[in-house]
Amino acid sequence: MRVFKFGGASVKDADGIKNVYDVLQKVGYEDVILVVSAMGKTTNALEVVIKNYFDKSAELNSSVQEIKKYHNQILLDLFEDEKHEVFTAVKAQFSELEYFLAHNKSPNYNFVYDQVVSFGELISTTILSHYMNYRGIQTQWLDVRNFIKTNANYRDAEVDWETTQQLISKNVKRKILNITQGFLGADENNFTTTLGREGSDYTAGIFAYCLNAESVTIWKDVPGVMNADPRYFENASLLNQISYREAIELAFYGATVIHPKTLQPLQKKEIPLYVKSFINPLLKGTCVSKGVDLEPQYPCFIVKREQLLISLSSIDFSFIMEENISEIFGLFHEFKIKVNLIQNSAISFSVCVEDKFGNFNELNAILSKKFKVDYNENVTLYTIRHFTENAAETVEANKEVLLKQVSRETMQIVTKEIN
Ligand code: ASP
Ligand code: MG
Repeated sequence: MRVFKFGGASVKDADGIKNVYDVLQKVGYEDVILVVSAMGKTTNALEVVIKNYFDKSAELNSSVQEIKKYHNQILLDLFEDEKHEVFTAVKAQFSELEYFLAHNKSPNYNFVYDQVVSFGELISTTILSHYMNYRGIQTQWLDVRNFIKTNANYRDAEVDWETTQQLISKNVKRKILNITQGFLGADENNFTTTLGREGSDYTAGIFAYCLNAESVTIWKDVPGVMNADPRYFENASLLNQISYREAIELAFYGATVIHPKTLQPLQKKEIPLYVKSFINPLLKGTCVSKGVDLEPQYPCFIVKREQLLISLSSIDFSFIMEENISEIFGLFHEFKIKVNLIQNSAISFSVCVEDKFGNFNELNAILSKKFKVDYNENVTLYTIRHFTENAAETVEANKEVLLKQVSRETMQIVTKEIN
């Protein structure tokens, strides 16, 4: 069996969905399971709905209507006959969402988040499945919540592998085209859970693992895994083959092509992962598989923007030791600030962090009581795997280098743009 994952960008409009059909025609669809994300930016739009719901905002209704309109337009573009049963099916899903918003009593934000945000995937797979049938490809629509069981840690649920394995291997039919939702699961009480943003790749990994699949293919709008983001680097090249380890490292440093959790289950069973273009599905793309000599032939660049470089030094020139460091990390964790790089010397300690939730000012007030705090806002963190001198020069050109760290395979450079 093969597992295919189509992300939001690949099904963002009617043409995207028609293209999924074309891809399947070209690469075959017997004995396949399609894992599909919400269409386009629907998950973000549902996050706005959730925010409006908790803020008791007057915009709540209009934010739902907008999502309805978006999907309805796609339906109109795909199906000639407005009496097609898909219209009723999607309408019923929106009614269910509205019913939930009108009747929910739970004040738990994360719980509500998962119940609401899941409609993105439920609706996209409903549309896709009807469309494939409409074009003559018979499909089996699976509610993933009957297969992937998790704990009740809403928004970042952990998979119960044993139960999931049993349910998938027993109940997923082979020799047909299955379609199911990425990103979702269900807890013991059958409430919907989610696996973390961008979690659909992981869903594909879970199915592949439990089905002992032949391969996983992630269909993307790029030709495969590149050695650099073509938006920021000229001459970005495709990596034909990389090892699981290299892919895990790239994902760790922030390459966004593959969700980091996805690789572990695949590596355990040595199931190859392909990253391919949904525009040119017959091209080879990138293969991530077992092997020691699959390291990339060129340096790989990963860029993280809008970082904060913080240096802490002790006020009394005493050493910053384990005790301080563990306290500092405890605080970063508490304030949900992600640490991307660490460097320490005797009396100072520098970190490059990402303050996604805008908590730094609050944290700074606490840190400043114990340390002298210096920081640079809006810096960029470059990571170069398999660096060369030339690669470092490219990154450093016309920038001020604030910090540089080199290990055997990896160079990290924190820079500030010179205006
Ligand atoms: N729709 C979810 C998200 O946007 C899951 C995914 O796309 O992987 O985060
Ligand atoms: Mg996505």
